[in-house]
This record gives sequence, C-alpha cells and structure tokens, in this order.
Amino acid sequence: MTMHMTPSTDVSVIPAMVTDVREAFRSGITRPLDWRRDQLKKMIALLEENEADLLEALRIDLGKPAAEGFITDIAFVVGEITMMLKNLAKWNKPERVSTPLVALPAKSRRIPEPVGVVLVIAPWNYPVQLLLVPVAGAIAAGNAVVMKPSEVSSATSAVLARLVPKYLDDRAVRIVEGAVPETTALLDQHFDHIFYTGNGTVGRVVMSAAAKNLTPVTLELGGKSPTVIDESANVRVAARRIAWGKWMNAGQTCIAPDYVLVHQKVADRFIDEIGKAITEFYGDDPRQSESFGRVVSDRHFARLSSLMAGGKIAIGGQTVADDRYIAPTVLVDVDTDSQLMHEEIFGPLLPVVPVASIGDAVDFIASRPHPLALYVFAENKKVVDHVLSNTTAGGVTVNGTIMHISNPNLPFGGVGESGMGAYHGKTSVRQFQHMKPVLARGTKLDPSLAYPPYTEKKIKLFRKLL
Ligand code: NAD
Repeated sequence: MTMHMTPSTDVSVIPAMVTDVREAFRSGITRPLDWRRDQLKKMIALLEENEADLLEALRIDLGKPAAEGFITDIAFVVGEITMMLKNLAKWNKPERVSTPLVALPAKSRRIPEPVGVVLVIAPWNYPVQLLLVPVAGAIAAGNAVVMKPSEVSSATSAVLARLVPKYLDDRAVRIVEGAVPETTALLDQHFDHIFYTGNGTVGRVVMSAAAKNLTPVTLELGGKSPTVIDESANVRVAARRIAWGKWMNAGQTCIAPDYVLVHQKVADRFIDEIGKAITEFYGDDPRQSESFGRVVSDRHFARLSSLMAGGKIAIGGQTVADDRYIAPTVLVDVDTDSQLMHEEIFGPLLPVVPVASIGDAVDFIASRPHPLALYVFAENKKVVDHVLSNTTAGGVTVNGTIMHISNPNLPFGGVGESGMGAYHGKTSVRQFQHMKPVLARGTKLDPSLAYPPYTEKKIKLFRKLL
C-alpha cells in the first residue's frame, strides 16, 4: 500500500482565511435557503461525480472494499443530505410555542438562527462521511464552515481538498489540510461552534482551545462499546451481526462492538458460530478477501499486535506487517486487567468474556466509562429492559450492531467519555443553530397590574394569576 504525503495548508494563511469566511457570514450570503439548497446539491454532485476517485482514495488509505466505501462514505452522506434538502424549509421555520397568561397579549416563537462560522475536524476511519455530514448540517443551518480532514487518511484528504473548492462556494466554505500544527493554528482562531470527531485526548485539547472564546463544542469520541449476549439470544444471528459490525473497515469503526460479554451457557456456541460467520464472510484466508480492509498505519498495526497479548487466540491471529493485515481475530481467556480490556481496540480483535449472569455483565459495563454504543442480544425482553435501564451509552442497537446510526431520526453522539452533542437528520441542523426565543407583545392592552406601585390589591391579584 502506498502512503500519500498530505500537502498541508500554509499555517500563515489560516487567520486571514477564517477572517474572510467570517466576513462572508456577516455579509449574509449563507442565510438564504436558496444558497443552502444550492450548496447541499453541489455536495451531492461532488460525491456522485467523483465516486470513483473517492473510492480509490479510500482503498489507498484503508484498503476499504469498494462496497463498504460506497455504503458508508458515499450513499450514507448522500442520504443525509437528501433528507436535509427535503426538510430544509420545515427545519428552518420558527417554532411557535404557547404563552402563559401573565405575558398576554403576546406571541412566542423560537427562531432558528445560524451560529456563525463552524469548524469541523474529522478523523481517518470514515474520512468522507465524518467530514461532510457535519459540514452539511452546518450549511443547512445557514453557517459558514471551515473543515479539516484527517492527515492520516491522506489520499482521501487530497481528493477532498481538490474537490471542495471546485464544487462549493469558497467565500463561505473552506478546507484546510494538515495535521497538528495546522489544527492548532485553526484552534487559535475564533469559531462559533467546533465539531470534532476523534479520540478523547485530542477532544480535551479541542475543548480547552474552545474555552478561550466560550465556543460550544460537539465532541464525537469513542471508547469501548460492549456487546452483551444473553442465554436467550439467537446465537447464530448474534454471531453474524457482531462479525459484520466488528470486521467492517477492519474493526476501525467508532461504534464497532469492542468486546463481548456472553452468558457462559452459550459462550462455546457463540465462538463456534462466529468462526462460521468469519469463514462465510471472508473465506478461509481473509487476506485474500476483497471484502476485508487493512489497518490504517504502522503505528496502529504495532499497537494492535501487542494488544493480542491480553488473551488467547481462538480464531485468526495472523498478521502481515508490510500489508498492515491483521486477520479477524477472536480472543478468549481474556485478562480483564490487560490493555486489551482497557483501551479502545479500534481494530479487528474481538475479546470474548463469559459472564455468569446478565447482572455481572451490567456491573462490568456500569463500572467503566460510558461507551459510545452498546449492543444487547436477547429474546427475553426483560433482559433487554434490565440492560437498558441499568447502563448508559451514546446509542444502542438491540439484537444487532451499528444499525442505530442508520436512522437519521435517532440523534447520534456520545455521553460522558464518549462525547457530547449529537447529529444526524434534524439534530445535525439544530446542533449548529441557536434557537432564539422571541416573545412579541401586542400594545393594545397595557394593564397597570405589573407596574409599581405594588399595592395590596395588586399583590392579591398576582397571587391568583401566577
Ligand atoms: P485522527 O488521528 O485522524 O485525529 C482526528 C483529528 O484530530 C484529525 O483531524 C487530526 O488532525 C486532529 N488532531 C490530532 N492531534 C491533534 C492535536 N494535538 N491538536 C489538534 N488536533 C489534532 O483520528 P483518531 O483520533 O485516531 O480517531 C479515532 C478515534 O475517533 C477513536 O477513538 C474513535 O472511536 C473515534 N471516532 C468517533 C466517532 C464518532 O462519531 N463518535 C467516529 C469516528 C471515530
């Protein structure tokens, strides 16, 4: 696999660039719905007309199978933008609300208004989706945007840096390429909202930088997303759905099932079924499979190889360093104190830990930081309810993995260590807006009740009214 060097944006131009974009916002060009509609349509054109280039870049960066790249980084984004286009007028209408008696006569509304200039910082694992979906939300909300793709997925960054100025209005929408120095220079500027997707360490850097200007942040972070399998579960279906969610993008998915807590009564059957699923999905030698990706960098390859020490290999375990290939791997006899069970795996390793009861699984999860996603497999509804009401997670799929992200009516985001704020569908638009409360009074009536002097009679009336 070839590594592309990312040409970075000259840091010295960044302050002036952000000033220009702010001027564009102030001038009002981003506010009309027609401008927003036009930009959103152009984003769709960018994706559709350059699908081949984008898929090739994803293959270079991540060995991403074309089918996966198409679904997650093209079709998903087009779907989100199409929904925004359909609902643009509706979601940007002021919302009428009722007014209490004391304020009458008056009308009350919440008026959605753009916050201003938005900074979007994206990671490398779904480098198109995680950049352009928040950008679309910011535009649909009427903002100007500066976006920065990840330098780690350098081929995709280069394609996007070529296409964004070609398709989008560069007065108000800009792309900056680069790594820490460029991002640091961006974070020195004043933005009205920062939307960051990536790891929690950098999330803290972003939030501290934002604090200087009291800039609100959305932090889309990660963590160890647990999967619980009850003895009542349909074990075969669970194994297939877990295998799909785990080994998509070679495990480099923020909501991939990180580890499995399986009821001991069905643990052996689960290992057996997941082995069958791996063979069915990727063949006897997954390295030859067109449907299985690669680890993004040598650093992550080394990290993942050493994480394997935390358990005994039951399935897979093969690695090829110069191809950054790590086989779909299932680990058993896991040391729960090891790194494998403490840091987010973010790769194709699946530790499986048997538990004596669902209570034990719940205790294990509840004693750790809130995950981005949680999965529970059970036919017994009481078990599902018990897990749901005794754990916290950014989002949940029951009897499946990943799929809660596919419904734009469900806000997507983390809680606690897995992040703050959310997006997708209408939530994406609201994330970048201030819902300005406006109470507009009529002047035909102007009772003196509320005005001084506060007589006994008035106070009595107050007590009745309030
Ligand atoms: P990454 O290394 O690409 O970093 C993300 C972004 O942060 C990049 O644009 C990078 O340039 C920037 N960055 C890195 N160091 C910086 C610094 N010191 N100062 C300022 N900016 C800096 O990606 P990553 O962090 O390895 O991404 C993987 C993590 O992201 C995982 O934890 C994963 O779970 C999480 N993730 C979350 C979501 C979500 O939607 N919640 C989605 C994908 C990934």
